[in-house]
Amino acid sequence: MEIKYPEYLKKVQTYQPGKPVSELQRELGLNEIVKLASNENPFGCSLSVKKAVERYATQINRYPDGGAYYLRQALSQFLEIAPDQIIFGNGSNEIIDMIGRVFLSDGSEALFFEGSFVVYRLIAQISGGRYREIPLECDFSRNLEKMLESISERTKVIFIDNPCNPTGFANKREEMNEFIKNVPDNVIVVLDEAYFEYAKPHGVPDGIDYIRRINPDIPEKNVIVLRTFSKAYGLAGLRIGYGVARKEIIQILEKVRQPFNTNALAQIAALEALKDQQFVQFSVEENEKGKQFFYEEFERRNIRFVPTFANFIMFHAHTAEELYQKLLHQGVIVRPAFGFRDYLRVSIGTEEENIRFFEALDKAGYSCR
Ligand SMILES: *Cc1c(COP(=O)(O)O)cnc(C)c1O
Repeated sequence: MEIKYPEYLKKVQTYQPGKPVSELQRELGLNEIVKLASNENPFGCSLSVKKAVERYATQINRYPDGGAYYLRQALSQFLEIAPDQIIFGNGSNEIIDMIGRVFLSDGSEALFFEGSFVVYRLIAQISGGRYREIPLECDFSRNLEKMLESISERTKVIFIDNPCNPTGFANKREEMNEFIKNVPDNVIVVLDEAYFEYAKPHGVPDGIDYIRRINPDIPEKNVIVLRTFSKAYGLAGLRIGYGVARKEIIQILEKVRQPFNTNALAQIAALEALKDQQFVQFSVEENEKGKQFFYEEFERRNIRFVPTFANFIMFHAHTAEELYQKLLHQGVIVRPAFGFRDYLRVSIGTEEENIRFFEALDKAGYSCR
């Protein structure tokens, strides 16, 4: 029996997440599995989060606070922006979805760079909008002037993941300042800073500064910054992220937010996680060490990789699909780098996991020496 549904949905390919550990265990009967596929925090999360979630377990019969009052207050202080400049999402992915529904469903156009986070294209497609992809430079860097030149009458939203997933590339503060200065007033710039905590020490802009109006030379623009508790804060399984923008934009997005979109445990966990900046600091420092280890080991094998500003690295493998399978069979889960056919993406793990990855790589016989 044929079911009718909108034409624009027919092209949509369902999102493929990193393979869950339990799935690989079922399929291959392997025990010691290392998942370096979804850029999760390999050190878990703050101990105080675990305690708070346990304490709260007796109250899960109640609906959450739809306004996320306590988390909103804490985040407002932490970020130095007003409480009504924040919107929470069931992961920052949900906010991308809200942006699509609000700003693209009339057929407006989204722009993003080639090889951006795949969810932008997905959301542009399912909301009934259009999209155009701007080519990268040959070293995977992104030319923001090229992005400015590509803006058309139809352009409503520009998505920039900074750092980019999966290349790990990030634009620096000065170039982003110029871009924001020159972007037209009627365009909404979404700066997706899912990896902000990892990138911050390296001269990457804090997009919220454009909303705080830190720099008087940069006029007010329609910027939405997305952040998440899924990465450095270690709460990927609970699904909570947020968007920051001027109040008028937040009020529009609130129209499409489901009343209880962020769950109670996620709100409690995020509040505790925010308080434990020491854990975040530790995670970022360990990631730096892991990054250096990856660089050295890739160089030693003469394997090409893209320098990263985040907690994952994209590396070249002329037999990417085959290598991916070979690693899987040794219990190491990495990820195809979507948009880059001959590349894989590996998350930086604990020291032990990183060593396991290179052991598996060697066993798979992959080297370019
Ligand atoms: C991981 C990631 C996110 C975060 O998604 P959540 O829904 O908050 O878990 C957002 N953007 C990019 C580019 C990411 O890589």
